[in-house]
Amino acid sequence: MLSSSKHVDKRPESALMHRSLIEQPHEVLSASGSYLHLASGTSILDGCGGAAVAIIGHGNQEVISATLAQMQKVSYVHTLSYITSSAEDLASHILSVPPGGFQHGLEKAYFCGSGSEANDVAMKLARQYHFENGEPQRKWYVSRKQAYHGNSIGSMSVSSYLARKVPYEDGILLDKVSFVSPAYAYQYQCSDETEEQYVDRLIKELDDEFQRLGPENVISFIAEPVVGATSGCVPAPKGYFPGIRTLCSKYGILLHLDEIMCGMGRTGTYFAFEQENIAPDIVTIGKGLGGGYAPIAGVLMNKKVVDGLRRGSKAFNHGQTYQAHPVTCATALAVQRVVRREGLVERCGLIGMSLETLLRDAFGGCRFVGDIRGRGLFWGIEFVKNKVTKETFDPALHFGYNVQQNAFKLGLAVYPGAATVDGVRGDHVIIAPPYNISVLDLKKIVTLLKEAYLQEESKIDV
Ligand SMILES: *Cc1c(COP(=O)(O)O)cnc(C)c1O
Repeated sequence: MLSSSKHVDKRPESALMHRSLIEQPHEVLSASGSYLHLASGTSILDGCGGAAVAIIGHGNQEVISATLAQMQKVSYVHTLSYITSSAEDLASHILSVPPGGFQHGLEKAYFCGSGSEANDVAMKLARQYHFENGEPQRKWYVSRKQAYHGNSIGSMSVSSYLARKVPYEDGILLDKVSFVSPAYAYQYQCSDETEEQYVDRLIKELDDEFQRLGPENVISFIAEPVVGATSGCVPAPKGYFPGIRTLCSKYGILLHLDEIMCGMGRTGTYFAFEQENIAPDIVTIGKGLGGGYAPIAGVLMNKKVVDGLRRGSKAFNHGQTYQAHPVTCATALAVQRVVRREGLVERCGLIGMSLETLLRDAFGGCRFVGDIRGRGLFWGIEFVKNKVTKETFDPALHFGYNVQQNAFKLGLAVYPGAATVDGVRGDHVIIAPPYNISVLDLKKIVTLLKEAYLQEESKIDV
């Protein structure tokens, strides 16, 4: 479901375990800038960077050179005994606050290989913090419905990607996890409710859940500042995150923000939480960190958390063979240097506004487009069968998936999504192009996507 487009393959069965045993993904021979070049001879405009990963596009020579140079210097050492400058420099690069920048209070970074791992690491870190802080009774994680945090046992336990969880629900996943409502105004704010009332209701629900569990038993609250794949680029209503921050602080519950998809500049600020004007305790980053050039993700922790470890065991009770890997760190650092030098976060914010205008102009009046939302270069279009009642399409119609498939045939990759609303119903597509995409290609994305949508619209009679 997550690959851009698939066809039934006639070649002998692959030795590689693909996502599907019957459908074969397309082979990509090369990629450069905002385009993928397929074995079939066609080129695809990459309007989603995979899953919002390729933030500086494909084939960047500077990143390739930096990767090679690090490989020639030192490709691997064990972090128990050695450090390398690339890992050190990446940590300081990410945590340094530029003059006039947002004071996030994050002090240290841990690097690993994927977002799922990063969230597991963050969950363990939060638990270790309380354990050593004299509160070993804290054993619960609180997360939100319609959120995705990864596919490992830990990160999946705090996710609500319902279809993927089915085989593990009964006794396999962590059981001390509870879920509250998403902050998803389009579907869940009542028609007679103001934004402020909606936020108050959500904060009260979280407080009630903390009370039910006993706030002294909760380790952390986990949330994506802008929800990514599950419901399609959903920013929270104004005041939600400040309310969450206050509530967590009141009870000593750590605030763990998952910026794996929405972070690293994607929303037009370096961290998505900057726009909420709050400082989290733990942040996980991934996707855009290596921009697709390296499998790398990270856990960032604030001073309070690090101080807890300083007072306690004076160690981080976690370690992995490939943590702070010299080469993946050098690669990510090269990506991040390109982003900073070329002012790409600012550009993302600026052309993000053009993208918003283009999308609203093209899709605003469309029969089945219920909502257009996002920030920066991170936009979701939610499709509904009825714009007044917000009734969704029958999931068997695969409306959103078909729009994505149509787009692919027209030469555009966008990221599809279903089960948008509640894990079963709903359709959306995500647009998340590289921050350095040309304005011409940005317009092309909207034009092709509109065509793909209209093809699907014309098949429905209501
Ligand atoms: C992709 C994603 C993850 C998981 O990252 P992987 O690298 O696929 O393990 C976690 N959280 C969010 C918000 C994501 O979008």
